[in-house]
Amino acid sequence: MSAPPQPRSLISGFFRSLLSAPSSPSLELGDLSLTYEQLWNYAGRITASLQDNLAPSEKVVAVLASRSVGAYGGILGILGSGRGYVPLNPKFPLERTLVMLKASGCKTLLVGQECSAMLASLLPHLDQPLNLLLPYPGGAPEIRAPHRAIGVRELKKVADPHDATIDGNDAAYLLFTSGSTGVPKGVAVSQSNAVAYMEYAAKRFAMHAGDRCSQNFDLTFDLSVHDLFTCWDAGATLCPYAEQTLTPATLIEEKELTCWFSVPSVAMFASKLGLLDPAAFPTLRWSLFCGEALSSTLATAWQAAASNSILENLYGPTEATIAITYYRWDQATSPAECVRGLVPIGWPFDGQQVCAVDEDLAPVPIGESGELCLGGSQVTRGYLNDPEKTAKSFVRLKHTGDRIWYRTGDLVRQDDRGCLFYLGRRDFQVKVNGYRVELQEIDLVLREVARTELAVAIPWPLSDGSASGIVGVLSGSDPTLDTQIIAACETRLPRYMVPNRIYHFPQIPLNVNGKIDRGKITEMLANWKQ
Ligand code: AMP
Repeated sequence: MSAPPQPRSLISGFFRSLLSAPSSPSLELGDLSLTYEQLWNYAGRITASLQDNLAPSEKVVAVLASRSVGAYGGILGILGSGRGYVPLNPKFPLERTLVMLKASGCKTLLVGQECSAMLASLLPHLDQPLNLLLPYPGGAPEIRAPHRAIGVRELKKVADPHDATIDGNDAAYLLFTSGSTGVPKGVAVSQSNAVAYMEYAAKRFAMHAGDRCSQNFDLTFDLSVHDLFTCWDAGATLCPYAEQTLTPATLIEEKELTCWFSVPSVAMFASKLGLLDPAAFPTLRWSLFCGEALSSTLATAWQAAASNSILENLYGPTEATIAITYYRWDQATSPAECVRGLVPIGWPFDGQQVCAVDEDLAPVPIGESGELCLGGSQVTRGYLNDPEKTAKSFVRLKHTGDRIWYRTGDLVRQDDRGCLFYLGRRDFQVKVNGYRVELQEIDLVLREVARTELAVAIPWPLSDGSASGIVGVLSGSDPTLDTQIIAACETRLPRYMVPNRIYHFPQIPLNVNGKIDRGKITEMLANWKQ
C-alpha cells in the first residue's frame, strides 16, 4: 500500500509563489521592498541554520521580533525547517515573556535586530540554556554560557524551498492567550489546523498576485497568520504598518491596499479621526473584520468608505484557528438583521461545525440563546500541558458521539436559516481594543500589587459594547498609591491589560450569590461624578 500523501503545511503556499514568481514583491516595509526570492534568501538561511544546528526532536522555535524582515523572514525560516514558531511580543513585560518562553519548552530563540537590546535584559533571567539565532551582523550582546549563539556567522547557505517532512499534528504555531488563573494559556495550532483554514480562505477570498494586503495584527495574535499566509499563498504583497503610523488605515491610501483585515477597534479609531469619508478607500476589494463584535454603525460607515469592497464579519477563537464563521454585509438588508446593533457572525466555513448548547451540553432550540461550540478540522487539541483546562473546554456533546467540540464561552442565537447572532459572553473574558483578556487575570495582579482582596478590573470605557481600556476599582485603599499600583501592573501585564485609572468605591457591590457584581460596578462608573 502506498503511503498517504503528506499534508501540505502552512508554508507551502509561500513556496508555490516563490517558485512561480520569484521576482514579485512579497513584502513592503516602509520604503523597503523585497521580492519573494529576496525574502527567501533571508529566510532560507535561517532554515539552513536550524537544520544544521537543531535536533529533529526540537519542534518549536521562539521568535522575538516585530514588523521587521527579521520577524517575517524568521517565521518563514522556522516554518521552512519543518518547525512551528512561537511569537514573543517585545511590547510585553519581561516577566510575561519569560513565562511564555518557559511554558513553550523552546530551546532556541530567534531575535530580530530591533529586539537586541531586550535580549540583553532577558538573558540573565533565563534558567534554561538557550540557542540564540541572531540573523543580523554585529550589534548583538555577547552571548555567554550556558547560552550559545548559533548561525550568526554561518548564515551563508540558503535552504532549498521545499516542504520539510511534516506530520500534520506538529505545531505550525504556538500562541498564548490570557488565562483566568493568572498564567497565559498556550494553544498549539497544528499544521493540519492551519492548512484547513488556508485552503478554505484561498477559495473564499480568491486573492491574487496583484493584491496588496494589510498586516495590522501583532504576531502574537492568530489573526496575523491570516495576514501573512493568505497573502503569500496568493503571491501577493504584504504591507505591514510601522508602529509610528498614526493609524493603520492611513496605509490604505498610501500603499493602495486591496485587502484589509483588522479588529473593528482599528476601524473605530479611523472613524474617530474622521478618516472614513464616503469612497475614501476606492482600492479596497476586501474589508474583513474579526476578533470582536462589529457594530452595524461601523459596518455602514466602513462600507461607504470602502464602497468597492466586500465587507465580511469573521468570527473565531484562537482555539479554532483564526476564524471559523463569516457574515457578508449587504447595506440594503443587513442593518435590519443586526441584533442589539451588532452584525451577525453568520455561518460556519465549509466543513466546520457549529452548535449552540445549554448548560448540560444539549443543543438549544432554534432562536434560543446557547453557548457556541465549534467542531471540525480547524479545532485544536487543547491547551499546552494543561489537561484540566483542556477537559473543561474541549468536550463531547450529548448528541454527537465521539467528536470533540471547543466550548467558546460565547453566547449565540441561531435563526432558522442557520445564521448565528453574537449575544455576549458567559464568563469574564472581554476584548479590549480587540485583545482577548480574562478579567480575573488582571484582578489577581491588581490584588497582589494593591495588597487587598477588594480590587476588581473593569473594562471601561465602553462604546458599542466594546471596551477601549481597563480601569481598576478598589475599596479601602489609599488613593495616593494609585500611580505605584499602575506602575507595578505594568511590570506584569501587557499594556492593554494595565488599568488606565483607579477608582475608589466605598464598597465593592456584590450580587445575590455574594460574588462581585461587575455589571453594577459598570453602572456605577457610568454615573461616576468627578
Ligand atoms: P481570540 O482568541 O483572541 O481570537 O478571541 C476569540 C474571541 O473573540 C471569541 O471567543 C469572541 O468572544 C470574540 N470574537 C471574535 N470574533 C468576533 C466577532 N466577529 N464578533 C464578536 N465576537 C468576536
